[in-house]
Amino acid sequence: MFESEFLTSSAESKQSYRQLISRAAEIVCECFPSRAYSGASVSDLAALISGDFLPEQGLSSDQIAATFSSVISNSVAVSDVGTIAHLHCPPLLASLAAEVVISALNQSMDSFDQAPIATIVEQKLVRWLCAQAGLPATADGTFTAGGSQSNYMGLLLARDAFLNKQWNWSAQKRGLHPDSGRLRILCSEVAHFTVEKSAAQLGLGTDAVVRVATDHQFRMSLPALRKEIDQLQAQSLLPMAIVATAGTTDFGSIDPIADIAQIARPAGAWLHVDAAYGGALLFSPRQRGRLAGLEAADSVSIDFHKLFWQPIPCSVFLLADAQQFDLIKMHADYLNPEAHEAVGIPDLVTKSVLTSRRFDALKLWISFQTLGREKLAQMIDRTISLANHAAEVIRRNPRLELMCEPQLSTVVFRVRPISPDIDSDQLSARIRQQLFHTGRAVIGHTRVRNHPCLKFTCMNPAAHETDLEALIEQIVQVSNTAS
Ligand SMILES: *Cc1c(COP(=O)(O)O)cnc(C)c1O
Repeated sequence: MFESEFLTSSAESKQSYRQLISRAAEIVCECFPSRAYSGASVSDLAALISGDFLPEQGLSSDQIAATFSSVISNSVAVSDVGTIAHLHCPPLLASLAAEVVISALNQSMDSFDQAPIATIVEQKLVRWLCAQAGLPATADGTFTAGGSQSNYMGLLLARDAFLNKQWNWSAQKRGLHPDSGRLRILCSEVAHFTVEKSAAQLGLGTDAVVRVATDHQFRMSLPALRKEIDQLQAQSLLPMAIVATAGTTDFGSIDPIADIAQIARPAGAWLHVDAAYGGALLFSPRQRGRLAGLEAADSVSIDFHKLFWQPIPCSVFLLADAQQFDLIKMHADYLNPEAHEAVGIPDLVTKSVLTSRRFDALKLWISFQTLGREKLAQMIDRTISLANHAAEVIRRNPRLELMCEPQLSTVVFRVRPISPDIDSDQLSARIRQQLFHTGRAVIGHTRVRNHPCLKFTCMNPAAHETDLEALIEQIVQVSNTAS
C-alpha cells in the first residue's frame, strides 16, 4: 500500500528516488544564496514559517519546492567568502554525495546487525586515525556528533577511571563517590566552554574546573599549571584531568601538549587533548610538528566538520587504552548481548554514549579518497595562509588593532573608535549587525582580556586574498557610519 513512499529494489521506487534526489539538488542549486545571508531578521523569518506543520493531505511537489526554496534562500551560505564567523565550514562536494548514500542506507552504528560493513569501516577508520595521531596500538575510538560530545566522553572516562583508581569505586554502578567534591579538572582560560558544561553534566559542577592562565599567545602557561596543581594538592583536592587544547576556538592557540603530558602523568591526572579544531594539522606535513605530544594523550577530540570540510555531524573521540571503554559499557539483550563479544561480533554501542547513530565515517572516507593526502594538506595550509594575510592587512590599517598573531585560521582584531565617546562594545555589535542585515558578511566576535573584538575564522580555502581585503575595507567603512 505504501510502496511508493520508500526506496526498495523495485524499478519504480528507484526511479522516484532518482527524480526526488536530483530535484532536491536542482532546488539547492537554483535557490543557493548569492551572498552570505539574505539579511532577514528574526521577525521576517517567523513570518515566513507558518504554523501548520502537518497538512491534512500531502502537498504538491511545487508547494514542497517552495518550502525548500524559502529555507535555502534564508540560510547562511557557508561557502560564501563573507561567511567567516565560526568554525563552520563549507562542505566538500564529495561529502555531500556521501551524505546521500549514508541517508539512503540508514545504517545504525549501535549494533553489527544494523550496520555490518559500516561497523567495519568505522572501526578500521577510527583505528587508522588513532595511528595517524600517534596513539599506541591499544587505542580505539568512536565517531561522535561533535567536539562537545567528544570532550564530554573524555571527561566521563577520566572521572570514572579516576574514581576506580582512587577509591576502587565504580561510578557506573554507584554514581559519584562521597568525596567526589574534591575532584578538579584543569584547562586553560581560553579552553572551550564544554569543559565546564561536561563538568556540570558529570555531577562535578562547574566549580570543579580550574582555569589556568595563558601566555601572550593564549597557550596554557606551564609555570601556572604547575602552581595550580601544587595548590590543589596542598588543599587535598584531586586534579583528575587536564584538558590541553590543540587549537583554541578564538585564537587557534595550541597548548604545549608534550610538556603538559609530563606534568599530568606524575600528578595522576588524565590528559584529554581537545583537538576539535587543530586536529587537522595532523594532515599538513608543514604544520604537523605543532601537535607534538598528542601521542601521550589519554584521549583526543577531533572534529571533521571543521577543517576537514565535512557536513555536520562528523567528529571522533579517540582513547589511548581501548580497555577503558569498559568503564561505560552496558549490555542490552536485544542489541548487544555479552555473548556477541565472546564470538567476535562488534557492537559499537558499547563504546558510545549514544545508541542509534549515523554512519558518518563514510563521508570522511569518501572525502579522503576524493581529495588525496596532498590536496587535503594544501587546503589546510591555504586557510592558515589566508588568516595570515588578513592579519597582515589588519596590522597595516591604523583604524584596526590585531589582538594576537594568528596561530591557525582565526584572526581576532579590534576596530578603534574614531572618537573616545564611542562605546567599543556597541561599535563592534553595530558593525556585525550591519554586515549581517545587509547580507554582506557574517563575522565573528569575542572578548579578549575584556575588550570586545571582531573575529574572522577562515574556513574557505577557495577564498582569495582580495576577498578578505575587500571585507576588511568594508568593516572600516561601516565603522565610520556605525559610530
Ligand atoms: C568547535 C569546538 C568544540 C565543540 O565542538 P562541536 O563540534 O561544536 O560540538 C570544542 N572544542 C573546541 C576547541 C572547538 O573549537
